[in-house]
Amino acid sequence: MNLVLFGPPGAGKGTQARRLVEGRGMVQLSTGDMLRAAQAANTETGRRAAAVMARGELVSDAIVVGLIEERLRQGTGAGAVFDGFPRTLAQADALGALLDRLGQRLDAVIELRVDDAALIDRIAGRFSCGRCGEVYHDRARPTRVPGVCDVCGSTGFVRRADDNAESLRQRLMEYYKKTAPLIGYYHAKGLLCPVDGLGGVEAVGAAIDALLARLAAPRRGRERALDGARESP
Ligand code: ADP
Ligand code: ZN
Repeated sequence: MNLVLFGPPGAGKGTQARRLVEGRGMVQLSTGDMLRAAQAANTETGRRAAAVMARGELVSDAIVVGLIEERLRQGTGAGAVFDGFPRTLAQADALGALLDRLGQRLDAVIELRVDDAALIDRIAGRFSCGRCGEVYHDRARPTRVPGVCDVCGSTGFVRRADDNAESLRQRLMEYYKKTAPLIGYYHAKGLLCPVDGLGGVEAVGAAIDALLARLAAPRRGRERALDGARESP
């Protein structure tokens, strides 16, 4: 099963992707994480992407499609959860072509719906464990013991360089200009599945589980609709 987790920055894509990885053995393919890893490793790609990311703009389609292609070729076992990709119509076309070539397909695009005020609040308070990557929030999800990661016990935490007001405004603008059109694109393909992203991590996770159960149930309404969309070119 291959899923896209879709939504604006701060919608909770990464959190829900990690949940799907733990619960279903799927593989998370986050272009944001890949780009930050490239940056940390000081590769050519990482250096080229760093300034663009800090401004809150989109990295070139060629770079992110290249990263995804490389990763898909290594195999994805139980399936891939695309997180933060695709972000442009060109990337969506490229993903379709890549999966085609590998004899695979996209099963659903889960759109996490969250309003702008909630996004800004979520991102402004966001920090994560420097060792295991667990994501926290100053108010909504602090560590149980102050200064100690719940998951791995590390005491080193990081805040992303682009999680600041100026860069966030730019990221939201990029989202509405270049990424939001994908909602129509995937709706037309019969793949779009909206989920209310305003609840807590567990509530949103449960809504996604219910959706995936419906998709897996044989020959029910939604599944037939998806099949119809897949069979037409
Ligand atoms: P968020 O969704 O919270 O903005 P991400 O980690 O997904 O965080 O992305 C951080 C930054 O990485 C983006 O603002 C952009 O500069 C770059 N990036 C990530 N994925 C893509 C992509 N698919 N296409 C272009 N740029 C990307
Ligand atoms: Zn940790």
